Amino acid sequence: MNAQTADHPTTAQLTEFVLGRLTTEDSDQVARHIEACDSCCGILQKIPDDRMVQLATAPERFHPLASRP
Ligand SMILES: [Zn+2]
Repeated sequence: MNAQTADHPTTAQLTEFVLGRLTTEDSDQVARHIEACDSCCGILQKIPDDRMVQLATAPERFHPLASRP
């Protein structure tokens, strides 16, 4: 419960971070948040890199529940 984790980056921001589309400043900000936030770190690891681009056009192909053990 600290100020750093109060504001989570959006999934879109995390995606752009993964794709390297954020500015250096924003990227640094997201990186610092992820270091302090296990939740966002977990989300980040679930973003399938370039497949995220497909998600934007074909969301039905993304099944979060399918990845559970
Ligand atoms: Zn977070």
